[in-house]
Amino acid sequence: MSHLPRSEASRRHGRRSARRPLQGYSIMKIAFIGLGNMGGGMAANLVKAGHEVHAFDLMGAARDAAVQHGCVAFDDAGEAVKDVDAVVTMLPNGSIVKSVYTGSVIGKAPTGAVLLDCSTIDVATAREVIGLAESAGYAMVDAPVSGGIAAANGGTLTFMVGGSGEAFARAREVLDPMGKAVIHAGDAGNGQAAKICNNMLLGIHMIGTCEAFAMAEKLGLDPQTFYDISSVSSGQCWSMTSYCPVPGVGPQSPADNEYQGGFAAGLMLKDLRLAMDAAESADAAVPLAQRARALYEDYVGAGNADVDFSGIIRTLK
Ligand code: NAD
Repeated sequence: MSHLPRSEASRRHGRRSARRPLQGYSIMKIAFIGLGNMGGGMAANLVKAGHEVHAFDLMGAARDAAVQHGCVAFDDAGEAVKDVDAVVTMLPNGSIVKSVYTGSVIGKAPTGAVLLDCSTIDVATAREVIGLAESAGYAMVDAPVSGGIAAANGGTLTFMVGGSGEAFARAREVLDPMGKAVIHAGDAGNGQAAKICNNMLLGIHMIGTCEAFAMAEKLGLDPQTFYDISSVSSGQCWSMTSYCPVPGVGPQSPADNEYQGGFAAGLMLKDLRLAMDAAESADAAVPLAQRARALYEDYVGAGNADVDFSGIIRTLK
């Protein structure tokens, strides 16, 4: 499906007059590449903050949705980045990120533009792409996110940012309207390092939480009673008290919706594979994460890639 031509897109979004720039921030022209589940909402929040957003995605439907949110859609990534103050990418993996930056961003965007990759990718590729951008005269950060589609739509993501102090300061202005927290993790690639270590821990404690609930039940404990005890005892963790894998127990979570929505098991597996690569390159011992990766391989292999990652509890019962 083809997206609207730029003139039509500009005519149709018609919401610019209602934009309210955040206090203390200047209005920028921002190219946004990758308008999927996450990027679509993030681009819309940049529009809401008053910025002019030049949107590109390979999928016509994603470009059309961006136009509905007030973005200006482009046919080509190289065209979208011309004449902008910042470029944000939200793409599926490291090889796509590298090909977009080398093919359509570096050398096409003005060197004064700050570049931000918000995708979750491997640390090595993040550092390589930032090195290429810096050699060409750009300031660039890796800025992966914590928080799912709801946080992307609501502007409440947490950004963990790797790059120089100067690049971080410039990136922060772009990231603020999309997040509740923007944290400098250190040098280039450290945002991805933080993201991968965080999600490795999440994968491990979700499986641990599932095992504990499944065993408690087999030992004759009511799940709610176990929750009441463990949520105020030393076994307490985020997977239990914010994202409980048992339906009807704890706050509302994907378990209450047949494990739909939330964070897909396929994405958890992607992050655990990235963690294994990072562990190997850093010679780090991660025996529990290796086991978690194997369990999610089996779970996803059984046709559950799109099921919420907490649904793995059903394999333990
Ligand atoms: P998605 O598949 O919904 O969106 C990716 C988009 O990129 C798609 O619309 C696709 O058409 C587009 N795309 C692919 N190649 C492209 C190219 N060469 N040029 C332009 N567009 C291209 O994925 P998503 O869920 O939005 O995730 C994006 C990133 O965010 C991933 O790295 C993911 O790991 C990370 N992430 C996702 C979540 C989540 O809950 N979905 C949470 C945290 C982080």
